[in-house]
Amino acid sequence: MTQGRSEFIAQARERLGSKSVITEPEEIAPWVTDWRGRVHGASLAIVAPSSTQDVAQVVMLAAEHRVPLVPQGGNTGMSGGATPPADGSAVLLSMRRMNRIRSISAEDQFAVAEAGVILSALHDSAHEVGMRFPLSLGAKGSCTIGGLTSTNAGGTQVLKFGTMRALVAGVEAVLPDGSVHNGLTWLKKDNRGYSLDQLLIGAEGTLGIVTAVALRLVPAVAGRGVAWAGLDSPIKALELLRFLEARTDRVEGFELIPQDSLELVIKHVPGAREPLTGKQSWHVLIEATTPDAAFDVSAELEHLLSEALERELIADAVLASSEAQADAFWKLRETISEAERAEGQTVAHDISVAVSDMPGFILDAAQQVEQAFPGVAASGFGHLGDGNIHFHVRARSHAAPDWYETEGAEITRFVDDLVTGAGGSISAEHGIGQLKRSEFARLAEPGRVHALRAIKRALDPLGIMNPGKLVP
Ligand SMILES: Cc1cc2nc3c(=O)[nH]c(=O)nc-3n(C[C@H](O)[C@H](O)[C@H](O)COP(=O)(O)OP(=O)(O)OC[C@H]3O[C@@H](n4cnc5c(N)ncnc54)[C@H](O)[C@@H]3O)c2cc1C
Repeated sequence: MTQGRSEFIAQARERLGSKSVITEPEEIAPWVTDWRGRVHGASLAIVAPSSTQDVAQVVMLAAEHRVPLVPQGGNTGMSGGATPPADGSAVLLSMRRMNRIRSISAEDQFAVAEAGVILSALHDSAHEVGMRFPLSLGAKGSCTIGGLTSTNAGGTQVLKFGTMRALVAGVEAVLPDGSVHNGLTWLKKDNRGYSLDQLLIGAEGTLGIVTAVALRLVPAVAGRGVAWAGLDSPIKALELLRFLEARTDRVEGFELIPQDSLELVIKHVPGAREPLTGKQSWHVLIEATTPDAAFDVSAELEHLLSEALERELIADAVLASSEAQADAFWKLRETISEAERAEGQTVAHDISVAVSDMPGFILDAAQQVEQAFPGVAASGFGHLGDGNIHFHVRARSHAAPDWYETEGAEITRFVDDLVTGAGGSISAEHGIGQLKRSEFARLAEPGRVHALRAIKRALDPLGIMNPGKLVP
């Protein structure tokens, strides 16, 4: 242990109390590997402050002793951003003890949640006051408001409500010099130059530690209609979305699922059943909601889908007849990654292109990848209406156990070149972290890289905020 790190840990313990500093290796071990198990790090300690003042003290100590900090929320991120480096040079800063909802108001449609609040806990609190925080994703039982903010997370309601960037009204954060930025006063208009709040959203812990976030709420859902439709192609799926959007503003979820992904879910997920009787090449899961208890949103969706059937936009559809069936439809979508993992090795890509280009991209890219890497299966599922899909390439059935390690990087370069060629993004919602950093460096425009490095240097000249992440 270097002198600096041991002094940092001793002084953090002295100032924050022994409860806030964990050094037992068995308590640290679960937090130094990323959620997917792809990156393994090491840390001599986890520092877990319980207030903004404590975070500021930790950051000042880290600056004094030149100890890098790796902020961590629920550790559910997909790009290795919350995993410390393997050399043990950094200390994990766990935000999970900062888990209070400081205020919540139905009247102001606004909540202030500390960084360590778990997303599902915020959902519950909003529900208690007749409101809703309209962002949800598969990791809602573990991911935190600080992590969601720092990765500008998306999820399944972006179509209507946007990503975190649209839902965050302000950020409180400890900056790398230990000063506190307070952006929690919700000013509808504020043109005092650069927005620090917006800089911190999606910064992946490289510019400061998010300690609390002011969040927009919307009225609670009073009714929802959930339907599953089968169709010929992603092109028809986008036509269906545009058809629905022209007739109602109540559609908030629209997920594309290829038949082979559905088959894997049926094969591997206990209790999963085909929603439609006949086989279809592609599927969409649609959710429409209303805050108005007197409005029958299911009937509206049913009516629109029969019209879509007549127009031959879809081949078949079924409307969930109960909440349990609606949840079962969503489970089919949410367990695709799990089913793929059970089937074998997969190289995952979280990509975006312009919405109107996405149907063609999915088909062309799958064909090109399957030609270039014979035997693999490629397809895309997810948030078609956001121009964002999870483009997954699965190993051939008799692939070597180290297929991912030997061929994964080459497949990723191939896919990323296709995405970049189409004017898209190699990270639509999962961030860059450490896993996508070299591809980001290879493909980003020089101006973007220059600006990112300049901002990082200006705000964090000592390089103590999550070094080795995001910034190429
Ligand atoms: C099953 C599953 C489904 C998912 N689905 C989606 C999806 O649909 N859409 C989507 O966008 N993402 C999805 N994700 C990934 C998503 O990014 C994370 O779930 C979430 O945003 C990260 O929250 P976290 O608290 O776990 O952050 P962590 O994983 O702990 O950290 C993520 C990054 O944020 C930084 N960070 C964390 N807290 C702070 C803080 N307080 N201050 C500064 N930096 C901080 C970390 O250093 C790291 O760089 C999914 C993940 C899983 C496991």
